[in-house]
Amino acid sequence: MLSVRGLAKAYGDVHALRGADLDVAEGQIVALLGKNGAGKTTMISIIAGLLRPDTGTVTIDGFDAQRDLDRASKLLGIAPQDTGIYGVLTVRENLEFFANLAGVEKGVRPGRAESVAEQLGLTELLDRRASKLSGGEQRRLHTGCALVHTPKLLMLDEPTVGADVATRAQLIDFVRATANKGSAVIYTTHYLNEVEALDADIVIIDNGQILARGTRDELVEQHRLQGLEFTLTETLAEATRAELGAVEVGTHTYRIDQDLAVGALVAKLGDRSDHLVSVEAVRPDLESVFLAVTGDRLEEVSD
Ligand code: ATP
Repeated sequence: MLSVRGLAKAYGDVHALRGADLDVAEGQIVALLGKNGAGKTTMISIIAGLLRPDTGTVTIDGFDAQRDLDRASKLLGIAPQDTGIYGVLTVRENLEFFANLAGVEKGVRPGRAESVAEQLGLTELLDRRASKLSGGEQRRLHTGCALVHTPKLLMLDEPTVGADVATRAQLIDFVRATANKGSAVIYTTHYLNEVEALDADIVIIDNGQILARGTRDELVEQHRLQGLEFTLTETLAEATRAELGAVEVGTHTYRIDQDLAVGALVAKLGDRSDHLVSVEAVRPDLESVFLAVTGDRLEEVSD
């Protein structure tokens, strides 16, 4: 459904994308996982035709998205990070307005609006002005507006930021249902638990480059993560850290992502092992995959 090749984009000296490739098939959910500034929004904006790349191509359902923007844009739905709904319009009017923009025929729009509202738990609110909705309800409406025309490619940029637990669960269910009906979905998030709940194909992007792709289990397997996390009473010197291949993951807390027995760690630490407070085996999880792939922790966005 989507094929992206060699996408590069610089803003002055900042290389937001450095030659990224991405394929998403019908019915597939791809979770784009990356820290702040990794290049996720830039990539989505280029795919949606909102931004021109310096180099690279985007093909949506066989159409060159840059040359055939009109046709390509009818095939896609995007919910950017900032909610773009109109406060003075009702829920129904917002949904119909976005359906109209996407080229949905007039007679079909009311039915589409009601169906999307039902799936997102907004039926009771159809005739309420969007400005009078709660934050979570506005988030749901924002997502609904992106897919009221049943796009073949749906892109959601951090759709759950600021949403409560119930809204999150509802959005995740909705995204899965949308993919089950055949849409290709790109979903950016900082929340690893959402990636797991979506059962998505995970793409790790860092510093404008795609570094890894696979299901959760494939990535954990590929990176054979059975490391150790240990805490000391003091900071470990840079040289020792490098020697151990340890990454600082908290105050005086370090992580080694390689097979290493506790005894071997103690031996490597030598006299410094007197300062050990705790050592534990790292459970293989997505966080450790991210750390192994990028050399950094994924900062979780607090809301
Ligand atoms: P976040 O998770 O914070 O939304 P992101 O992965 O979506 O981050 P982008 O917004 O794509 O990242 O930004 C990639 C890089 O490009 C960052 O270094 C950012 O500061 C820079 N950047 C993005 N937009 C612009 C712009 N309009 N002008 C200059 N630099 C920009």
